[in-house]
Amino acid sequence: MPAEASTGNDRAQAFRIHDNASEKVTTDEHQAIGTPGHPWGDAEITEWRTRQTRKRSYESDVLQRLEGLRSNFDIEQFGLLEYPPDRYPLIALRSRNWRDDLPSALITGGVHGYETSGVHGALKFAEEHAADYVGRINLLVVPCVSPWAYERVHRWNPGAIDPNRSFRENSPAPESAALMQLLAPLRDRFLMHIDLHETTDTDESEFRPSLAARDGIEYVPGEIPDGFYLVDDSETPQPKFQQAIIDRCAIPHNNGSLSRQSADNVRTVRCRAGRSGTCCNRFCVGPQPNSIRGDRLGPMGN
Ligand SMILES: [Zn+2]
Repeated sequence: MPAEASTGNDRAQAFRIHDNASEKVTTDEHQAIGTPGHPWGDAEITEWRTRQTRKRSYESDVLQRLEGLRSNFDIEQFGLLEYPPDRYPLIALRSRNWRDDLPSALITGGVHGYETSGVHGALKFAEEHAADYVGRINLLVVPCVSPWAYERVHRWNPGAIDPNRSFRENSPAPESAALMQLLAPLRDRFLMHIDLHETTDTDESEFRPSLAARDGIEYVPGEIPDGFYLVDDSETPQPKFQQAIIDRCAIPHNNGSLSRQSADNVRTVRCRAGRSGTCCNRFCVGPQPNSIRGDRLGPMGN
C-alpha cells in the first residue's frame, strides 16, 4: 500500500465509497417518529421499519461470492432469518480439515449492517488470504451477521434492535442469538476474535439521534473517533496484541517510518469490551478480541 493512501484525497475517496452505499435518511425523519421524550412502542417501530428500503442485495453481494470459497472452506448455513417477505440464510465459512490441535480464529463482519467494509473485508480476507493459514490455524468467518440491515444500510434489525447490544441469554435479536448458538460448542476455543466494524459519517448525524428518539431520551452530541482504530478491553488490556495489529495496518513511508497521518489515525480506544451485550470479548481465551473500525481497512491485507 503506497504512502499516498493516507492522503486527504484517499480519505475522501474512502468516505465517498461509503456515502455511495448509503442513502441517508435525515435526522428529522427519524425524530418525527413517535412523541419526543417517550420511548418507541410497537407502532413507532413498525412506522420506522416501513420507512426502511432495500438498497442493495445480500444475495448478490455475499451469497453469490461463496461459491469461489469452497476450496478452502466448508460453507455452512447456521440460521435463517424470516422477515416476511424476506428470508436470509445466515452463513459461516469453516476451514476445511478443521483440526482441534490447531489454534482457532473467529472473524465476524456485518454485526452492524451499515458498516459495509467489515462485510467485504471478511469476504476479501477469505478469498485472498485464508489459504495462507491452511494447516496453521482454524478459521471461522461469518461475513454478514445482520443481512436485513446490510440491505437497508442500517445499524438495527427490523425490530429497531441493535444486534451488538444483544449478545446475551434470551437475546431479543435473532441475528445475535443465531451467532451465539453457532459458537456455543466452540466457546473459549478461539485464540482470537476479530469483529470488524466501521465508523460511519452518519453515526452522529443520524444513528445516535435516532437512538435517542427510539429510547425517548434527549440527544446529546458525542464524538466518534475519526480514522482507523481498535477497541481494547480496559479490564484486560492487550497492548502488545493491539500494537501488532497497528504495526501491520499503519501505512509506512518509503523510508519505513509511519506517516504522521497514519500514526494519528491508527490507535486503540479502550472500553469495557464485551459488556452491554457486545459481540467482542465473548468467545475467546487468548488475546482479547477486538473491534476493528474504519473505512481504511485495506492495508490489513497488504
Ligand atoms: Zn459497528
